[in-house]
Amino acid sequence: MTEPNVFLASIRQQMDRAATLAHVPDHVRAILAEPKNELIVHFPVRMDDGSFRLFKGYRIQHNNLLGPYKGGLRFHQDTRLDDLKALSAQMTLKCALMNIPFGGAKGGVKCDPSSLSSDELMRVTRRFTHALGANIGPEYDIPAPDVGTDAQVMVWIMDTYMNTAGYSGRNAQQRVVTGKSVECGGTEGRAQATGKGVVHCITEWARERGIALEGKTALVQGYGKVGSHTALILSKLGVSVVGVGDHTGYRLNPEGFNAHRMAEYVKKNRSIEGYPAGEACSRADFFAQEADILVPAALQNQIGAGEAKTLKVKLIVEGANGPVMPDGDAVLQERGIDVVPDLLANAGGVTVSYYEWVQNGRQEIWDSEKVEGRLERSMKRAYQRVAERAREQGFSMREAANVLAVERLARVYAERMIFP
Ligand code: GLU
Repeated sequence: MTEPNVFLASIRQQMDRAATLAHVPDHVRAILAEPKNELIVHFPVRMDDGSFRLFKGYRIQHNNLLGPYKGGLRFHQDTRLDDLKALSAQMTLKCALMNIPFGGAKGGVKCDPSSLSSDELMRVTRRFTHALGANIGPEYDIPAPDVGTDAQVMVWIMDTYMNTAGYSGRNAQQRVVTGKSVECGGTEGRAQATGKGVVHCITEWARERGIALEGKTALVQGYGKVGSHTALILSKLGVSVVGVGDHTGYRLNPEGFNAHRMAEYVKKNRSIEGYPAGEACSRADFFAQEADILVPAALQNQIGAGEAKTLKVKLIVEGANGPVMPDGDAVLQERGIDVVPDLLANAGGVTVSYYEWVQNGRQEIWDSEKVEGRLERSMKRAYQRVAERAREQGFSMREAANVLAVERLARVYAERMIFP
């Protein structure tokens, strides 16, 4: 017997509660409970030593009511179908909350990218793209980076897709993925977008409460694309990053880490292990460290009741998807620790993915001021919508975000009706 998946159960329960709070019809609740399509592929890849290995890849297409399926690809050894089902549903809600004309999807390959050479990673990516075939497409399903994938992986996907899509209209296929490098058709500002969005949420939270951020302290779990940029932007605002952690361990530094130097170190060494500043500490010490803000920016299921009881922070901003578990959430509510939920907190990524897709479609190139200005307005407006709804109805920010998303979907279903 496989264990019930905590993350999927939590997302289903959250959607169900949102459906109840928003009084949406039962058929909408039923539709959202399952993805539309679940695709699993197996494909062989030649490894550097000449041997062949069979890989398992996934693409879960949750919903395309508001637009093409949209969401990241995760390359991780623990990639599981049920996690991807949960993550794909979150993408549907995230795009609905942000008023972006996309649906929700998620996918990935079960592999440890750090154990692959760059050539092997390229062949895995290209074979996976080939195996997905016409199940992705610029008007149908648009992947993007997620845990363990980056701009380079997106460019390989784009190139493989364009080379197999036929000669006519080849360039229109470029927007089959977002999160590409700027040189290869990506947008300015995508790499930092999720971190920027996280920090916009933090500044709004502080502004609402009349708190000055300068001199405040933060803990950042995960020092990848989201965590590193969050730390860098926070440092520029005078927030001191006093604790960091990743899959190799945790470190504390009451003086504050140099976020830029740490990002350089992680780029070279692929983790914070052995970083020559601060002190190594246990996971428990990291979560018990006193600070103003915690940004979990690693994986799901990190903060259960145990961690939530020991936390000494005022605010949690979910850079990752699903880092707080339901029992953790209950303790945080009881303790009055504010949580900006993932749907809102990390929506900067998909928002700028949308800008990239629009630019590709119109053959436009926006400068970073335009991207950043639009992102800031969009994040701040979304934050206000969620905060206002939470205040008006006594919801948590998480409930409010889920309700706003589910309501939007329900309104569209009500007007379009169900085919045929
Ligand atoms: N993987 C990111 C997320 O979870 C970004 C998805 C996208 O840009 O499509 O939101």
